[in-house]
Amino acid sequence: MPEAFKNFIGGKWVKSKSGKTFENRNPADTGDLVGTFQLSTEEDVDAAVQAAKKAYPDWRDTPAPERAEIMYRVAHIMRDRKDEIAQLMTREMGKVIAETRGDMQEGIDTADFAAGEGRRMHGQTVPSELRNKAAYVIHRPMGVWGLITPWNFPVAIPTWKTYPAITTGNTIVIKPATYTPACTAKLMEILDEAGVPKGVINYVTGSGGVVGERLINHPDIRGISFTGSSEVGKRIGEATGKTLKRCSLELGGKNAQIVMDDANLELALDGALWGAFGTTGQRCTATSRIIIQDGVHDEFVTELVKRVKALKVGNGLDESVQMGPLVSEAQLKTVESYVKIGQLEDKAKLVCGGKRLVGGDFDKGWFHEPTIFDEVKPDMRIAQEEIFGPVLSVITVKTLDEAIEVLNGTVYGLSSSIYTQDVNAAMRAIERIEAGITYVNGPTIGAECHMPFGGVKETGNGHREGGWTAYEIFTEMKTVYIDYSGKLQRAQIDNK
Ligand code: NAD
Repeated sequence: MPEAFKNFIGGKWVKSKSGKTFENRNPADTGDLVGTFQLSTEEDVDAAVQAAKKAYPDWRDTPAPERAEIMYRVAHIMRDRKDEIAQLMTREMGKVIAETRGDMQEGIDTADFAAGEGRRMHGQTVPSELRNKAAYVIHRPMGVWGLITPWNFPVAIPTWKTYPAITTGNTIVIKPATYTPACTAKLMEILDEAGVPKGVINYVTGSGGVVGERLINHPDIRGISFTGSSEVGKRIGEATGKTLKRCSLELGGKNAQIVMDDANLELALDGALWGAFGTTGQRCTATSRIIIQDGVHDEFVTELVKRVKALKVGNGLDESVQMGPLVSEAQLKTVESYVKIGQLEDKAKLVCGGKRLVGGDFDKGWFHEPTIFDEVKPDMRIAQEEIFGPVLSVITVKTLDEAIEVLNGTVYGLSSSIYTQDVNAAMRAIERIEAGITYVNGPTIGAECHMPFGGVKETGNGHREGGWTAYEIFTEMKTVYIDYSGKLQRAQIDNK
């Protein structure tokens, strides 16, 4: 019997006022109903914000180390439930079980980091220019935050937002993507069991157009943290700009891996395979372009095609499967349309894959062959637009300068990588690549939770998730002066 999920508001699991629900099905096997979820209304969002607002003063006044202590328990429960929730995640959005375990592990690491960070929450202390006067900066919580998340990291991304938001003393309302509400519901269960007080965390499921829009426009919400497409991100930037809410946007990417003639090709091939086809290419940091120096092009492409053809595609619950389905029929159609664009409009050379997988168990879900286009020019649509699927474009260049120019030639700037043995080339690339993340001799994917994560240009609005930077996003900075001289001291006047 599939689980009937409810909203989590003020510490209680409750039904939506709409009386309506929606279904979520396994993309590898659409006969498998993962669960039913509340199709929520604006009224439900208002009730959740109200609960978060009510819980805020007490939570704000709880010492940060005490708040953070709950995170140790959260990490502990997540470890106990790692495999169970990984299985659910694979059923919910399709990525293979090794990766969904990794997604859970990232959430565990994020909880461990939050547990420690609550004892730090560093401010700064500097000397005052006046005698008998102290000057320092502290970070204070802000109030109620709205968190809006995508489906490709159903546990990791909600934890990246929720854990720093509440550890710093805010209360939250989270709206997960409609493809992955079950995993976020499990996260609420864990936080509740670990002892997060009623109303500090609230969870409302439903569409972006109703639940998401109400959150971004709600007068009692102080900040929105959003991860998703650039299209929706721009809409959120516009709405939150009107009311001057704090707004953190982590958006799309068109990431590239540069391979120089002197690269260790084995390593570069391993990186390309994992970067392009891990999570079926549905990562914001997925390798979508290989920019290769002409001297190694033929050898690299021949070998890559061989390896890609050998990839085992199927239901991610099977431990031997290396690539799962697309998350939905719509995402599969997007991939099919880009393959057509690559062939008919761009006229690139299809060297492997290119078709939907059919027959047998493939007919139960949304599977597509891992696909490579060669002879791609930097301005072609398949080299410019985010596809979010298992489609890789190979672009050939002559020099490092040309490689960097091609890499920088899109509107996005999230992740990047260069394979070379030449330290001078690597250093030049690190300095000149326009991206939030650069890997040397590693693929474009592989973020660690204690490091800043985010991008430049249309990948975001300059904020960073992860690490200590997330703790700055979720807090207001307060500058404090304490004058203990017992007299009026006029800055810039009495000390001169
Ligand atoms: P999406 O933008 O379609 O949806 C993201 C979330 O926004 C969902 O919860 C959705 O319901 C909600 N939403 C939709 N319309 C809304 C509106 N008008 N107001 C408020 N909320 C609304 O993205 P997706 O398909 O879930 O995820 C894929 C995208 O996310 C890709 O572009 C990918 O690159 C990006 N992504 C970025 C990062 C990053 O950190 N930079 C990480 C993961 C995914």
